[in-house]
Amino acid sequence: MELRITEIFLSVQGESTHAGRPCAFVRLTGCPMRCVWCDSEYTFTGGTRMSFDEIFAKLEEFGCDLVEVTGGEPLAQKNVFPFIAELCDRGYEVLIETGGFVSTEAVDPRSSIILDVKCPASGEAERNRWENLELLKPEKDEVKFVIADMPDWEFAKGIIAKYDLENRSKAILISPVFGIDMRPLAEAVSQCGLRVRLNLQLHKYIWGPDVHGV
Ligand code: SF4
Repeated sequence: MELRITEIFLSVQGESTHAGRPCAFVRLTGCPMRCVWCDSEYTFTGGTRMSFDEIFAKLEEFGCDLVEVTGGEPLAQKNVFPFIAELCDRGYEVLIETGGFVSTEAVDPRSSIILDVKCPASGEAERNRWENLELLKPEKDEVKFVIADMPDWEFAKGIIAKYDLENRSKAILISPVFGIDMRPLAEAVSQCGLRVRLNLQLHKYIWGPDVHGV
């Protein structure tokens, strides 16, 4: 079996409760969404078809037991589901970063999902697949809201309450779009009384916002 791959690289995890850990990234090509602030448009086209064996060989070179499967939208390629299962079989700790509009039902439950909920300023909020919130595993899955402005923050708070995400997820990540003035959001997070955490993208501060594969 094969997957279309944009890049495979070793770095530190930049986001989520796993931020700062050594992590191998498998970035799949393609995404049917078009979020206004998308920072991975370079994944929309191109890529290289790689067999599972080729991908596993690359991961073995890295010797890193934490692997994130990301994109693009990784769940848009149907072969990703057996790939995730095989990663788990091989003993990797597996993170799945998904945009939230493809069902997560077939994702191997041994992996941890970081599920985006798209806010209005993304332009894609009507494509959220709300059933995915009901599939969250409270002990390991995380929910991420990318926030472009304060109306997005109000939207996020409404969804957190409506779906009881404080009890349904391991963590709720509030992730400002890179480059906005983060102070109003940081203040709002500090005062909200919710079990949320401000989520900055470490890799963009280390290597800059436009560098890929690091
Ligand atoms: S879902 Fe992710 S990869 Fe797809 S357009 Fe939105 S931000 Fe970009």
